Amino acid sequence: MGQYGLFLSALLPDIPFRRDFSLAAHTTVGVGGTADAFSPRSAGQLLSLLNLCKRCGIRFYPLGAGSNVLPCDGVFAGVVVTTSHFDRLGAEGECVTAECGVGTGKLLELCRRRGLVGLEFLAGIPARVGGLVCMNAGTREGHVGDLVESVTFARGGKIYTVGREACGFAYKESVFQHMSCVILSARFRLRQGVEGETEQNIARALERRQGLPKGKSMGCVFKNPSPDLSAGELIERSGCKGMRSGGALVSEAHANFLLNAGGATAADFYALIERVKARVAAQTGVILEEEICYMR
Ligand SMILES: Cc1cc2nc3c(=O)[nH]c(=O)nc-3n(C[C@H](O)[C@H](O)[C@H](O)COP(=O)(O)OP(=O)(O)OC[C@H]3O[C@@H](n4cnc5c(N)ncnc54)[C@H](O)[C@@H]3O)c2cc1C
Repeated sequence: MGQYGLFLSALLPDIPFRRDFSLAAHTTVGVGGTADAFSPRSAGQLLSLLNLCKRCGIRFYPLGAGSNVLPCDGVFAGVVVTTSHFDRLGAEGECVTAECGVGTGKLLELCRRRGLVGLEFLAGIPARVGGLVCMNAGTREGHVGDLVESVTFARGGKIYTVGREACGFAYKESVFQHMSCVILSARFRLRQGVEGETEQNIARALERRQGLPKGKSMGCVFKNPSPDLSAGELIERSGCKGMRSGGALVSEAHANFLLNAGGATAADFYALIERVKARVAAQTGVILEEEICYMR
């Protein structure tokens, strides 16, 4: 374990590579051990890496802002692929094309400057474009998939572009969650707003998020079982608020947020998630399903 990176790096010496990449430092929940990590600087480097991983049977894990990921403690058995070098962004009429490493803030800043409307519900979500598309991130105001025109991704040694209808977008769902690929970029079709509309929508979205718990978390941990049944409400009704496993804590402010209350390990979160699921199942009969992604 932990030797995959050295092996791949020996064969692909030009791709920036780090051993002991801290998973706690690169995820918003702030837990986890280390990984071997590659940070390709071009699509060419990424393709070489994915191709070699495939041929050698080595698992790779694309990491965006790490805001929806629960890592493992110890050493990750595979390699992490970071996307921060893929940060190009451009607009053409009402279309915006963003590479996977572009953060929400930068994306919305472009929309604001161009007066483009549609993605403002993303304001305040600490993510990058690859993660937003993969998770079909959204709020009651909308979901990323609704605005996607096409997605370009790398799989094995090839690059593909597919239209929205092929992306399998549904609630917290996309086809990219079920295939070994790296989303390279997405093209969004937006609408030209009236003067000040984008700013106002961003301000409103940020205001709506005011009540969310502060601190280290992964956002909502569980999916809502149905549009009119919220996971947070079920967890609260089952008496889980304030429940704790080691340093992992069910937030008092929003029961679907599990917080790193200090010194938590990934194992604390795995244990707390199981306890919450068991208590909710026993109290309500509903089996909660995780929204977050496990990296183990
Ligand atoms: C405080 C807080 C608030 C949040 N609020 C919301 C919210 O309102 N709505 C919402 O939907 N989510 C919310 N989230 C969850 C999270 O921000 C979203 O799921 C987001 O889309 C994850 O993006 P990311 O870049 O951080 O992806 P990561 O967490 O890094 O990755 C998530 C998944 O996407 C995959 N992935 C990442 N990049 C790529 C890529 N380039 N190619 C292929 N796969 C990739 C990863 O392998 C992983 O499986 C919140 C999280 C936090 C911490």
